[in-house]
Formats: sequence, structure tokens, C-alpha cells
Amino acid sequence: MATQTKEAPVRKEGMYEVVMKQFTHAADIMKLEPGVRKILSKTNTEIEVNFPVRLDNGQIEVFTGYRVQHNNALGPYKGGLRYHDTVDLDAARALAIWMTWKTALAGLPFGGAKGGIHINPKNYSKSELERITRRFTYALGDNIGPDLDIPAPDVNTNAQIMAWIADTFSSTKSPSTRFANLHVVTGKPVGAGGLAGRDRATGFGVVANIKNWAKLKNVDLKGKRFIVQGFGNVGYWTAHFLLKEGCILVAVQDVSASFRNDKGIDPEAMLEFSMANGRSLKGFTGAEEIDPGKFWGVPCDICVPAALGNQITAANADQITAKLLAEGANGPTDIEGEAILKKKGVDIIPDILCNSGGVIGSYYEWLQNKRAEIWKIEEVLEMIHDKIDTSFGKVAEAAEKYKVDWRMGAYIVALQRLEDTYMDRGIFP
Ligand code: GLU
Repeated sequence: MATQTKEAPVRKEGMYEVVMKQFTHAADIMKLEPGVRKILSKTNTEIEVNFPVRLDNGQIEVFTGYRVQHNNALGPYKGGLRYHDTVDLDAARALAIWMTWKTALAGLPFGGAKGGIHINPKNYSKSELERITRRFTYALGDNIGPDLDIPAPDVNTNAQIMAWIADTFSSTKSPSTRFANLHVVTGKPVGAGGLAGRDRATGFGVVANIKNWAKLKNVDLKGKRFIVQGFGNVGYWTAHFLLKEGCILVAVQDVSASFRNDKGIDPEAMLEFSMANGRSLKGFTGAEEIDPGKFWGVPCDICVPAALGNQITAANADQITAKLLAEGANGPTDIEGEAILKKKGVDIIPDILCNSGGVIGSYYEWLQNKRAEIWKIEEVLEMIHDKIDTSFGKVAEAAEKYKVDWRMGAYIVALQRLEDTYMDRGIFP
């Protein structure tokens, strides 16, 4: 078995610096109206809560949670909650800002927010996580709500956690409004008001984007090799849907280990292993374990980062052999990493477009709850695909018009929509 010698690359800048550099660059290119630029440069509200929870051993621990609401010009704040030890105010800020661009680009009636708890959930039992989640929801109080701010799953959170949030939020309201509050979160289990297909929406959307890229570039996806960083919800479903296109999964990395198999890794077997192993890939036998430092260099056509931010940097971008980088994660590529990839001629489908299938799915869940309807998975996936196709087309068009890359193209479409809204509406008073 390989020894894990290579250290993780040093993080030069946080995600907040990255998102602000991207924003400044795009605002310059499209000459964003100066007043709108000032508004979008700041977050509207930043909430930090400290709340106590009794652990299984009887001790009390105080946790810190965050919710940053960046902008709600287009509709209620929307964005996930992540449970991770990298969660802090700066991370929540950056991720909230990316959500504003993502929902604007997707043409949804939502603004942008993000939050979470500074925690490693692997250190807590299921019943502790339930109490932590319920108490966090209670601490957020009326700062969230179905027409105000609607959380969703993100890194290390899932449908079960959303169900606890919905139940806690509704339980603190009058019983007569219980069902009027169901859509305070999206990404719920289907039995608790969730949307059929929301679980796979992000990965499905990543692949819908990759199909658009292949069509535009005249690439046949059959036999194309891909690598995936992160094997959570986004990584697994992306692999699942790319296999349906005839692609071959040749390498996977998670926090615990990295794997390579040139004959192809079976994502279903990998998922089964990971579920039985506390969502860790360590010990998987369907591929050879490799040094984590060698992961990015595994020869491939498509590279899908689907884990955390700032993973592709000056320390490893040069090793990437893919022709396409499809950003399943939020902010996986830092400024220097991106410059290197661009020099190499790698196409990049930027996060705010690439992973937007998730929030598009959330929009349909919210609508389904509001209308008290129940939709079939086929209808849902078709609607998500349609919206991705539209966004992809708009981004490619803007990139062409302004002679910029797709990330800037995506920013321009999003910022233009926000600018139009402010120009039409003005500001209070
Ligand atoms: N956490 C996902 C994202 O980053 C989904 C957000 C949502 O559905 O509100 O886009």
C-alpha cells in the first residue's frame, strides 16, 4: 500500500479572496453600475450563534454556527448548511456570495446565503447530531423561514438533517402553520416533503453541463476517462450519470485515501463500501490505493473536483491532464490554479454553472411544497436539464460576446440580472 508522504498544498488565499477577485474582475469587464457594485460587495446579514448541547456522555459542549445572507434582491436567501471544521465566517461569506451568483445565473427567484456549524460530524453520534441540528435551528430562530431564507444540504449534511430542521422549525410555530413551513428547508427526505430526484440533482446537473460541453466541442463522451475528488453526494451521482454516458471512472480521492484503476472503478460498489464504512473509502479493494499527491496527475479527459474549496492550486494544477474541468464543488480552483489551467488550454465549467443542478432541484422542491403538489422524478430531472441547457447557452453566448472564459461569462449573466433588478426597482427609501 502506498505511503502518504505528500503534504496537502499550502492554501495561499481563502475562498473569500477568490470570490471577491472573481467579482471585481467581472464587474470591471461588464462595467457594473457603481451603486450595484457597492451593494454586492457586502453581505446583507451575518449571523453567528453559540449554542449548548448535551452530549451522550452527559457533558455539555458549546457549538458555533453561522448563517451569512449575502443578497436577496431576486428573492428569499437560498443556500446550504455545511458541517465541517473549515466552516467560519469567511467561508460562509464566500459561499453565500457564490450562491447569489448561482441563483441569479439559473434564473431562480432566490438570493444567496450559506452557513453551517464548525464541527467534524464524524466525532458525534447520530443522536448527538440530531440534538446539535435541532438546537442550531432553534438558535437561528426566525432568521430563516420559507419566504426569508431557505437552507439546504451541503458538505456533510443530508436529507435527514434537513428533516430535523424542518421539524424543529415547524414545531416552534403555531400548529396551524405547520405545513405552511414545510419549505423552510429543501433537500428533505421524500417522505418528509422532499422532491423526488433532489438527492441526485447536483450530480445530474454536472453531467448535463458536461453533455453541453461535449456537444459544443464535438466530443464523443463514450470511453472518456474521468477522475473525481470527493465521493459524497455530488461525487457519487456525477460518476453514476457519467457512466451512463459511457465514460470510465479511473481515479477517486476522498479525505481518507486515493484510488486508481485504469480498467474503471465501479461507483456503485464504491458507494456500497463507503456507506458500510462510515462514508470513508479507506480500505476499498476495487482499485489500487495511490499516494494522494499522485491523484491529480492520473491521465484523464475530464476532472471533477467535488469536495472542498481551494483544492486546485499552483501546487497541483500543472499535473492535471484533463481537457475539461467540471467544478462540482464550490470554489475548488484558486486564482493561480485557474491561470495555470487556462494556459494549458483546459476548458472550465465554473462552479456557479456546473453545480447549479442542486439549487435548481431545491427550487422545484420549494415550489412543490408551496403548491402542495407531488412530482415524478422524470419530470423533475427533465426540468433541471432544461434549466442547465438554458444557463449553459447564456454563459457560452456571454463568453463569446465579451471574449472571456466561461467563469467570467457566467458572472456577467448573473451580474447583469442583478443590475437590471436594481435599476428597475431602485432602493428603499
Ligand atoms: N449546497 C448546494 C449548493 O451549494 C445547494 C444549495 C441549495 O439547494 O439551496 O449549491
